[in-house]
Parts: sequence; structure tokens; C-alpha cells
Amino acid sequence: MRIIIQAPVGRDAALLVQTLNAAEISTAIARSTGALLALLEEGAGGTIIADEALAPDAIQALSTWVAGLPPWSSPPFIVLTSGGLATSQTQQRAKTLQALGNLTLIERPVRPETIRVAAQSALRARMRQYEVRSRQESLIQANADLEQFAHSASHDLREPLRSIGVSCDLLARECADSSDRTAELLRVIRGGVARMDELLNDLLTYAHASSIMEEELPAVPAVRAVDAALENLAAAIREGGAAITVGELPTIRVRESHLTQVFQNLVGNAIKYRRDSLTPAVEIEARAVAGYWHFTVADNGIGIARSHQELIFGIFKRLHGYGKYAGTGMGLAICKRIVERYGGRIWVESEPGQGSRFTFSIPEAAGAQDRASHGH
Ligand code: ADP
Repeated sequence: MRIIIQAPVGRDAALLVQTLNAAEISTAIARSTGALLALLEEGAGGTIIADEALAPDAIQALSTWVAGLPPWSSPPFIVLTSGGLATSQTQQRAKTLQALGNLTLIERPVRPETIRVAAQSALRARMRQYEVRSRQESLIQANADLEQFAHSASHDLREPLRSIGVSCDLLARECADSSDRTAELLRVIRGGVARMDELLNDLLTYAHASSIMEEELPAVPAVRAVDAALENLAAAIREGGAAITVGELPTIRVRESHLTQVFQNLVGNAIKYRRDSLTPAVEIEARAVAGYWHFTVADNGIGIARSHQELIFGIFKRLHGYGKYAGTGMGLAICKRIVERYGGRIWVESEPGQGSRFTFSIPEAAGAQDRASHGH
């Protein structure tokens, strides 16, 4: 990695090049801001600029370039200032230069070891940034591979499953007058096929729950996602006689189908895990807490023992057999994956027999537009 130098005075530039090369740091010289930007685009460990080389429009151009960089990237700038007393003018100047982000000011006259140490620490910092980038890229790749794997696996597995189901139906017709035992076995096989199909569906939803989207997301009123979720659950709500209350909800920048999915899983569970003696009551609310929106879905159901409160967010984790409550154990794992994809968390507070209160957080910066009207 090299250090780019922009110094209009020949002697300064020559001294810098000589000092850095003596420390086995390679250098490139930029004669103009345009040339500097071109060199920065190619990649650099750091940039040393003599203050007088930076006209206001050059600072503007550089800070615009810096602002457009990805989050992992913050290229180090070392600016050589003129020595002398601090005045309001020099202070103002320092403030303007801060738009460059990763900034070190060194006052002239500069000693060679000062510049060498500053350049070496810039290089180290830049190296760490490149490492972060490469770790991020391999994570994104691993995620995409996993998603692709789960996608193909669930598609490929569904095909033979379908043919088992069809054969089962045919066999049932052929054995119409066979023993009860045969009929029972066929029923078990069909049940297994249906359940496997359900598991594959959920696995697919899980795999897609964190697909990385590059596009800017539109702001969505959370209440719209809740309405969609309640509509999808209409049969369960009616059948359970559930009372659902929805408080005032903010507008956030997440994919609407993701938010609907989370509410649908949480409200669906709130109704499913109800107490036999009580009609289910579910409350949905949101609160602004320290830069996040906290959404809660609270119920008056069977509750969850403390020892299980983390476990339930795992893949295929369930606390009950398939008998009394249907389900695959994927609902909460899907919620967790979606919420974490937006930089939030999900947790539950509950006591057995006392209902459960699920909360998930979404950063406000995910784009709440009517933030002001809610306040803290
Ligand atoms: P599923 O409902 O398909 O089993 P989930 O991942 O949605 O899977 O939930 C995991 C487990 O957490 C459930 O099996 C249940 O034991 C427990 N659980 C989830 N929501 C509630 C709730 N509102 N009240 C009580 N238990 C719950």
C-alpha cells in the first residue's frame, strides 16, 4: 500500500518522499485535486496533503468523495498545517478539514520521524479497514451460499415428496377394502408428507428472511403490516375469539412483507398458545427507546418458563410435541433472522401461566419519518 502525497512546494514533496521511501513506504505524487481523487480511487493507505494545496473547492470535492464511501472505508488524511499561534482562522480551518473524516493535523516544521510514524499508523489503520471489508464480503457470500443451498434443498426435496404423496393417494384407492392397519399406515405416511412439506416451506422462508437488499426501502406504516398479518390470521382469530388491540405505531423503513411476517408469527403464537380457560387477548404496541422502536406483542396465554426463553428462537425448536399445538418450531427463528437483518433484537418476558410479552427492536434510523410526532 502506498501513501499519496499532495504538496505544491517542491522541497516539501521531495522531503516527504525521501522520508517515506527510507522507511520502505511507497509513495505517489498528486499534482492536482483531480489527480489525487483518481489515485484515491485506485486505492491508497493514506494521503498526506500540505494545507495550502487545499482550496475550499478541493476540500468540498474530497469530502463528497469520502461521504460516498462504504461504511467500512475511512481513508486516513494527514494534513500539514502552517505553524504558529492558533487563531480563530486556524480553528475554523481545522473544522472545515474535519469533513475529511479520518484526519490528523501535523504542524510544520515537520520532523521526519513524526511523518514516518503518522504514515505508518495510517497504513495500519487502512489495513484493518481492508480486513473488515474482506470479512464482510466473505460473510455476505457465506450468507448467499447458505440461502442458495436452503433454496435448492427445499425445492429438490419437495419433488420426491410430492411423488410420495401422489403414490400414497393411489395406493389408498387400490387398497380401498384392505385392513384397518393398512389404512392407518397410509394415513400416517400422508401426515408425514404434509408435515415435511410444512417444514420445507418454513426452511425456505427462513433462508430468504435475510436476503440482502441494496435498494433504498420506502417508509412503511407499521400498522399496515399489522393489518395484513391480522387478515392472514383472520380464521384463527375468529376461531379463538381473540381480542386484539393495536396501539399507535410508527412508520419504519423495512420491507413490508418482512414486518408482516414477524407480526403474523408473533400474533399467531399469541393465539395458538392460549390458556384453555381464557379467551386470548393480544396487545400490540410500539415505544421509542434510545434510537430504536420497540414493538411488543403481549398475550394472556400459557407463558414460557425462564429456562426456555432463549431456546425458543432457535431453528426447529419447540417446547411441545406436535400433538396439542401444530407448528414447525421455525416461526420465532424466522422472526429473529428478519429482525437481526435490520440491526434489531427480539426477546421475550414471561412467566408460566402469566402470559408472554414478545418485544422486537428496529433502529429508528431504519427510517421512521413521523419520529418527531412520537418522541421519547
Ligand atoms: P411453533 O409455534 O411452530 O412451534 P415458534 O418458533 O413460533 O414455533 O415457537 C417456538 C416455541 O416457543 C413454541 O413451540 C412454543 O412452545 C413457544 N412459544 C412461542 N410463542 C409463544 C407464546 N406466545 N406463548 C407461549 N409459548 C410460546
